[in-house]
Amino acid sequence: MNKKDSLLSIACIIVTALIILVVLIGQSLRIEKKLGFLPQLKIAQENENIPIKSVISSDTYSIERCTFTTESVLTKFDGANLTTADIGIPILCYHDVNPTKGNNLLLNPDKFRQQMKYLKDNGYFTLTMDELYGYLRENTAIPSKSIVLTFDDGYIGNYTYAYPVLKEFGFTATIFMISECVDKDSYLTSGQIKELSEYGIDIESHTTDHSDLTKLSLSKQIDIMKESKYSLEKLLNKPINYIAYPYGKLNNNAKEAAAAAGYKMAFNVQGTLTDKKDNIYNLDRFYIGNNFSMSDFIRIVTLKRT
Ligand SMILES: [Zn+2]
Repeated sequence: MNKKDSLLSIACIIVTALIILVVLIGQSLRIEKKLGFLPQLKIAQENENIPIKSVISSDTYSIERCTFTTESVLTKFDGANLTTADIGIPILCYHDVNPTKGNNLLLNPDKFRQQMKYLKDNGYFTLTMDELYGYLRENTAIPSKSIVLTFDDGYIGNYTYAYPVLKEFGFTATIFMISECVDKDSYLTSGQIKELSEYGIDIESHTTDHSDLTKLSLSKQIDIMKESKYSLEKLLNKPINYIAYPYGKLNNNAKEAAAAAGYKMAFNVQGTLTDKKDNIYNLDRFYIGNNFSMSDFIRIVTLKRT
């Protein structure tokens, strides 16, 4: 081998070594990027308040996550005209849905279905409690034809008769449960409550025992509101943030107690639209009884804010 050939061989070896080095560095950078991305994703999943886009650097993943988020919103409010304006929301207060006659609290299931069909045919969207709170306090947009369906006390007919109709029309609702009545005769069972909650029906509080709050001291009010919140949270393993006052009756102490017990909104049955100017612990609902005609119902849900 002459001197020229030797130099050529050394040059070949150096070039080959450089190529291998460049490839190895490239791979190691890619692995580092992958490992660095995983903890960021974990943080995003653990903290719902952090916008997904701001913490995830991978384009592919951020596209997947954002598509998922956008899809859920579109599916829920598909075709809706969204607004943040203070339009006034009808919140309906039902009790039992049951074919038994003789009590106005027992709404005939056929009447209930007719009312839900009217809402569906006329383009109404039902809001969850969190969506209502978001609209009232965090300026989140909602469909201009929004309505909130609530059921007080937690009767078994909510599961037997109302639930299949809500599913048929793809509606959500909130059940304000008297926590000490869970598993009692004619009330919802623990299993039914869990199933309803898993489906997306909000289970919230109606105190422990349906006491008239205006007859209780502030500290007693706080006690029964807290106790009912904790027992439902234990049963459902989710936060209970909303409460309906028994009989819709309240005084200034009740509003203070609801806040002190950790609730974010509380409801009466005073029969007016709920709007952004309302006290968050004194939100209005409309009672719907079995003696209401279809035109009574339509008059309520089409009321305009004055
Ligand atoms: Zn009640």
